[in-house]
Amino acid sequence: ASGYSLLRDPHHNKGLAFSEKERDAHFLRGLLPPVVVSHNLQVKKMMHNLRQYQVPLQKYMAMMDLQEMNERLFYKLLIDNVEELLPVVYTPTVGEACQKYGSIFRRPQGLFISLKEKGRILEVLKNWPQRKIQVIVVTDGERILGLGDLGCQGMGIPVGKLSLYTALGGIRPSACLPITIDVGTNNENLLNDEFYIGLRQRRATGQEYAEFMQEFMTAVKQNYGEKVLIQFEDFANHNAFDLLSKYGTSHLVFNDDIQGTASVVLAGLISALNLVGGNLAEHTFLFLGAGEAGTGIAELIALEMSKQTGSPVEESRKKIWLVDSKGLIVSSRMESLQHFKKPWAHEHEPVKELVDTVKAIKPTVLIGSSGAGRTFTKEVIEAMTSFNEKPIVLALSNPTSQSECTAEEAYKWSQGRAIFASGSPFWPVEYNGKVYLSGQANNAYIFPGLGLGLIISGAIRVHDDMLLAASEALAAEVTQENLDKGLIYPPFSNIRKISAHIAAKVAAKAYELGLATRLPQPENLIAYAESCMYSPNYRSYR
Ligand code: NAP
Ligand code: MN
Repeated sequence: ASGYSLLRDPHHNKGLAFSEKERDAHFLRGLLPPVVVSHNLQVKKMMHNLRQYQVPLQKYMAMMDLQEMNERLFYKLLIDNVEELLPVVYTPTVGEACQKYGSIFRRPQGLFISLKEKGRILEVLKNWPQRKIQVIVVTDGERILGLGDLGCQGMGIPVGKLSLYTALGGIRPSACLPITIDVGTNNENLLNDEFYIGLRQRRATGQEYAEFMQEFMTAVKQNYGEKVLIQFEDFANHNAFDLLSKYGTSHLVFNDDIQGTASVVLAGLISALNLVGGNLAEHTFLFLGAGEAGTGIAELIALEMSKQTGSPVEESRKKIWLVDSKGLIVSSRMESLQHFKKPWAHEHEPVKELVDTVKAIKPTVLIGSSGAGRTFTKEVIEAMTSFNEKPIVLALSNPTSQSECTAEEAYKWSQGRAIFASGSPFWPVEYNGKVYLSGQANNAYIFPGLGLGLIISGAIRVHDDMLLAASEALAAEVTQENLDKGLIYPPFSNIRKISAHIAAKVAAKAYELGLATRLPQPENLIAYAESCMYSPNYRSYR
């Protein structure tokens, strides 16, 4: 290959870090200015450049350009500065990027599979240059973050999520495939936007949708085998639950909005119990929001409770109550409930207002998964504080504007007694002369390590026990020092080590359940997981 094309190949390009010998051997003389710099200096320079941008979207675009120019520098930057750059390549900035995807779009990333390709999906997969794929993140763009239907512009999500699989979980970039399924959009603004990049039609639904997804799932298995992980991302809940249950028995599938959220929140609860006392079954849970996140978390809590007590999961569910937009979910509403809410319809009189529900149920744990901001009012938090020494309050809705309450409100209204964590990050809060730090229940704690564990064990199915194993592994990373500060999640700076530990526990579970195909089982799974992780260090080309 010529030096000129080497510089334009993001997988091999090192820019100014090409050594003198490499410049000689690969026809690079004259194509670069004379200076030779280290990888670390390149990182330093890029960070310096990124920090010049005031607008988050500009940082995002600079990162995307870097990914297209020098992949190893992109990943080293992300790994070395994970706390600073996570909000750039993922939520919240990626949301804005998706909203403006049509206009910032330069070079296509990932695979677009639209209804035009019906009957030819296998052919489309074969157009992708890499053959060995380990993780696919796929969206149909119908419920992007908290932003709704962004149609084909949802592509930013699988691209961003997979860059975290690599940076945080060590999956090789070439083994990652972002896919957007385009079955149309119901977003009027996009349908009327002359620059829209997707199919200009309303969403296919029902049988047409199901058949298209069926063709996709079949083609993926045919092309990549049984061990490729297919992560469903940001599907609307009416499809998300169905896809997960339909393909859960035939494919290696995982839904981060349902299962990843559940696992990360359960981990936070397990570590919060170290501060509050009691085991899960001694607590009462109330959720505001009974969608993918709410019912997913509720189900995993019930499962863990049952493991601990030995009682059936139907019993454990009785300690968990959910509220949707119509009020408390109770048995008299059974007929009209969507199927994923039915297991939560307990005997109780109907209650409409959240504050009245809190007073009636007297939960020890209050979880916001509604997408509705400012719903944990002063009255709600005060009620929680009136019968709990340390009320656990999780305000999970994203972005920050949709959070059920702020960290400051939670601490102030509970007189500093709340154990608080949120979906979007909050700055430390000072209240009565004490500084309170709150944790972020970020899915990025779980899915990269979970994915790594599935891959290194050659797992062929995702089992709920693996989610529990991941939660326990994450909770075990929270130190007494973290807890003393009120943090129920560990700091993100250790995320690659955390991911390796999660991967080891998930892989161990896969072996235990007979779902692993990589035999024999490695003796030290943590060491093995670490040895499998992609490193962004440059290789020398001699
Ligand atoms: P979803 O499937 O659409 O579910 C939303 C649920 O909230 C529905 O049950 C809905 O009621 C209910 N709801 C909406 N407005 C309400 C209100 N004012 N009062 C009471 N209930 C209300 O959405 P999702 O995927 O579960 O996501 C929900 C939120 O969780 C989003 O903001 C998302 O960003 C956040 N989330 C956070 C994390 C994290 O922190 N790691 C992970 C995933 C999701 P109906 O069913 O009656 O419509
Ligand atoms: Mn999501």
